[in-house]
Amino acid sequence: MITFDKVNKRYDSGQDALVRVSLEMDRGEMVFLTGHSGAGKSTLLRLLTAIERPSGGSVLVAGQNLNRLRNSRIPYFRRNLGIVFQNHQLLFDRNVFDNVALPLTVAGCGRREVGRRVRAALDKVGLLQKEKHNPITLSGGEQQRVGIARAVVHKPAILVADEPTGNLDPRLSEEIMGLFGDFNAVGVTVLVASHDLELIARLRRRVITLRAGQLVFDGVPGRETVHP
Ligand code: ADP
Repeated sequence: MITFDKVNKRYDSGQDALVRVSLEMDRGEMVFLTGHSGAGKSTLLRLLTAIERPSGGSVLVAGQNLNRLRNSRIPYFRRNLGIVFQNHQLLFDRNVFDNVALPLTVAGCGRREVGRRVRAALDKVGLLQKEKHNPITLSGGEQQRVGIARAVVHKPAILVADEPTGNLDPRLSEEIMGLFGDFNAVGVTVLVASHDLELIARLRRRVITLRAGQLVFDGVPGRETVHP
């Protein structure tokens, strides 16, 4: 589903953010991406979502070689993806329903279809009762769940999250990670960047660790380590 083959990323500043990173993720896998601040996690996600282009090597996502993806095709490619940010980027002048509906409205979906899908997404994140609320009246954890509902409302094959629990306390963080696990359980391929090592260790999933742009660990912590 996702292949990085000897991927380099050097920013215009001359900073090498990724150095010969190779990894494979199968359809339906769930993986945590870890590493210190500046290790290259966001850069890897930005390449995967075609926000940035690699300087070398190749990135394949959902059968598409992103090196060959024309800019005009990027919006179509992104329909495969659900993207969750740390600062969930909700619109505070619209209610929860409208925030979640946004990607569907932009894609020109009909009203009944929008209603059906938005309620299905809100139900999955446990916020069906709050569709009329303004997101500003919700707690931090609830706001993040609205962001997740918006990311999955178009039923993407791949869900990508960059530090989705960054501002949350440990209990809420575990709940949010549990939600990602729920989507994975129904077949969504999930990649979550997080530096919350304690939480990740408890979840016993595959972990990929970056250090100064290099992949230094790929495996399940505590089990036999697999060095690249
Ligand atoms: P992480 O998400 O693990 O904190 P990043 O991918 O954000 O790491 O950053 C990796 C390295 O690339 C860091 O040294 C960072 O300063 C640098 N970097 C990130 N974005 C840019 C950019 N747009 N221009 C120049 N350097 C950048």
